[in-house]
Amino acid sequence: METYDLAVIGAGPGGYAAAIRAAQLGMHVACIEKEPECGGTCLRVGCIPSKALLESSERYIEARTQLGGHGVEVEGVHLNLAKMLARKDAVVQKLAGGVALLLKRNQIKRYHGHGRIAGQGRVSVDGPDEGELSATHILIATGSESAGLPGVELDGGRIGTSTEALSYPEVPEYLVIIGAGYIGLELGSVWLRLGAKVTVLEYLPRILPGMDSPLAEEAYKLFLKQSFMFHLGAKVTAARRNGAGCVVEAESADPIHCSHVLLAVGRAPYTQGLGLEAVGVACDKRGRILVNSHYATQAEGIYAIGDAITFADFTPPMLAHKAEEEGIACVERIATGYGHVNYDAIPAVCYTHPELASVGKTEDALKESGIEYRAGTFPFLANGRAQALGETQGIVKVLADAHTDRVLGVHILGPRAGDLIAEAAAAMAFGASSEDIARTCHAHPTLAEALKEAALAVDGRAIHI
Ligand code: FAD
Ligand code: AMP
Repeated sequence: METYDLAVIGAGPGGYAAAIRAAQLGMHVACIEKEPECGGTCLRVGCIPSKALLESSERYIEARTQLGGHGVEVEGVHLNLAKMLARKDAVVQKLAGGVALLLKRNQIKRYHGHGRIAGQGRVSVDGPDEGELSATHILIATGSESAGLPGVELDGGRIGTSTEALSYPEVPEYLVIIGAGYIGLELGSVWLRLGAKVTVLEYLPRILPGMDSPLAEEAYKLFLKQSFMFHLGAKVTAARRNGAGCVVEAESADPIHCSHVLLAVGRAPYTQGLGLEAVGVACDKRGRILVNSHYATQAEGIYAIGDAITFADFTPPMLAHKAEEEGIACVERIATGYGHVNYDAIPAVCYTHPELASVGKTEDALKESGIEYRAGTFPFLANGRAQALGETQGIVKVLADAHTDRVLGVHILGPRAGDLIAEAAAAMAFGASSEDIARTCHAHPTLAEALKEAALAVDGRAIHI
């Protein structure tokens, strides 16, 4: 039996990053992945393919409706969906090849098969690389799967999850999306741009729960203008096939007849068949593995990170970069005694048009906890680069402690918000004040100047408004 310092189960962004860092720190590492390709949900059926389709569909709608305004007149624009999907698949394949190469370069032994913890320090592999290995430390990084909803009869085609919605072979005539979280809105944007009629049913009275509510409200108005349709406060109770199409039922709404249904009500930890109970790894009621601040489970030598975990008092968001940070912190702690994730500075992005990006506390959370703060906002309408781009929708909001001026949260609705939020996350990681951002020289003309102006606005001294 081969012996390792560390066996990582799952090669998603959490697992493969942890494996690489552990190898850098001198450990002999195995990584077990049940799918043929490494990269996890994120690379195969998550972040990457969704962003490839968002990019392509945005180019399509831009060519049809925006380029004329720049004096670029194009005629005969039409969609080649098969080519768009093939491009998305090629992007995924290329990156999956890159992950495999990284594992190899770091001398990490990859096992193809389903991993199960067979006992303390033992992992069995069921699949092409069948066998058993032993390891001093075991790291569970098995991620998550789409959550089901009682009454919704998934058929792996017309009634499906994000995985099916990343590969519809034809543009749906009428797509009904259950859940107005970022996954539903991103994939809804893709198919809306490509010509589908799209209705989103959401249980809550708002979209994008967790995001700053005034900005989510602004985004809602912009999505309506794009001809998204919404039923808020609608609790879906059933979805099933009905003749050639589907029917969706919700409390407080009439049944909707449509061609396709996308279930996007969140994700559930994927921990089946891991043998957790037998080795004493405890989970919460929702099946999430309970870990302490060093990602140790209740079983000696067994750790867990990423979408599959929760802390006893707090569940972090299920995000790829969060999983990666945790994987690295976990193995650094094992190897060096140190390793830490700053959960106050984890950005979250919804890649719609415009994008919504957020880091730190929302205004809602600050009000709820009674923390006194000052807010500074700045609209992209007043930003030179946004005008040049023709992308003037949205605002930047900086929230700073009323007494110390320390930045507590930054929320951006606007062009490239997902890239702009990195500066705010870095500022927060360094404990910056709004004045620190305001005094930092930003290149002109850039979208980033809107963040500087919002920071100036915290003190009532924005220049361009
Ligand atoms: P995963 O990526 O789920 O990886 C776990 C891996 O473990 C999988 O490859 C699985 O096959 C393997 N595995 C499971 N059990 C076993 C076993 N017993 N043996 C062997 N292998 C096993 N996040 C973002 O940050 N940004 C985004 O833009 C974004 N977009 C998304 C879009 C969609 C449509 C979806 C579905 C998700 C998106 N996410 C996004 C979320 C992101 O994909 C997850 O947060 C991230 O993948 C979690 O990483 P992980 O390493 O914990 O798990
Ligand atoms: P997220 O967890 O960000 O992926 O978002 C999932 C969304 O689905 C949340 O906004 C939930 O409120 C919503 N949701 C959950 N259950 C239902 C339901 N039965 N009907 C409609 N929306 C739901």
